[in-house]
Amino acid sequence: MAGPEPMLLKAAVLALTAATTGMAVAGATPAGAWHQREAAIMGTRIAVELWSPTDAQGEAAIDAVMAEMHRVDALMSHYKPESQLSQINAHAGAGPVRVDRELFDLIARSLDFSRLTDGAFDITYASVGYLYDYRHRVRPDEAEIDSHLPAVDWRSLELDPANSTVRFRKPGMRIDLGGFAKGYAVDRSIELLQARGIEHASVSAGGDTRILGDRFGRPWIVGIRHPDDANRVILRMPLENVALSTSGDYERYFDENGVRYHHIIDPRTGHSASKVRSATIIGPTATQTDGLSKTAFVLGPEKALEILARIPDIDAVFVGPDGKVYYTPGLAPPAK
Ligand code: ADP
Ligand code: MG
Repeated sequence: MAGPEPMLLKAAVLALTAATTGMAVAGATPAGAWHQREAAIMGTRIAVELWSPTDAQGEAAIDAVMAEMHRVDALMSHYKPESQLSQINAHAGAGPVRVDRELFDLIARSLDFSRLTDGAFDITYASVGYLYDYRHRVRPDEAEIDSHLPAVDWRSLELDPANSTVRFRKPGMRIDLGGFAKGYAVDRSIELLQARGIEHASVSAGGDTRILGDRFGRPWIVGIRHPDDANRVILRMPLENVALSTSGDYERYFDENGVRYHHIIDPRTGHSASKVRSATIIGPTATQTDGLSKTAFVLGPEKALEILARIPDIDAVFVGPDGKVYYTPGLAPPAK
């Protein structure tokens, strides 16, 4: 009997169709059905799959997830001039900007990730990052990078919890939450499904996924794709009740004279961070796994493994520039 097809992260296929994954063999399955939907929100592919006792409840739960994705997007998008994030970028250089507690708390959390990752994760990367336009093959030259790089500095973000305000201490600073906003939206979605009594679900926003429960006695099977071939799986993992995020240099990029310019920026240099080709992090929440998935790109696999080993319940798989695969001890294949 064939097992379920793997869900290919960041690939165009979500092969885990409930109807074809052998539900019948799994034994006692309560009355109900799997529901699935995909949508394009937050500039990415949102995929929701869940088990619900009734069709009406299942569809309403998916509606609620999609609405939540739109809500988070409206709060944090830098494409929308009216978003609170855009308001910070427009005015926090001149003085403190007051924002909703939710956004304030998320910005505060980003500083925890900056501390944890030796500055590899830094939402002020945007002070240089906005000079890149991958779709139009635009990149800053060295002089532009040099003049904007001092503003990439998470320590110069001033947060006032009493007033829920954000201020930039340096000129030219900008922030962008694209490094963990999708993971956050996925976590919010899972919480919302749990509040509705859903016990088996998978929610993905691009490369960020969180899995709730199992598939009635069997795990969800998740595959990590090859950096150069969306249809090739380098690793398949059975998972339950976890989050995972994959970042790759094949997502938003362009190549020029043999150099790949892509969307993860080394805050120390302002250049694309290329110490690995892809990084997958597995852990309790998608906010964490999304935030931590940048570490190896910036610091390299060895240093990243060292840092991740200090964080409870985190596993990782990296693909290096030469195709070498790195694992945390919890995932390494058994020695022969
Ligand atoms: P996706 O956006 O598909 O989830 P990733 O999880 O790989 O992809 O996140 C890449 C995004 O992270 C970039 O588009 C950018 O918004 C943000 N980013 C890039 N470099 C950094 C960095 N050093 N620290 C924090 N966020 C970053
Ligand atoms: Mg992500």
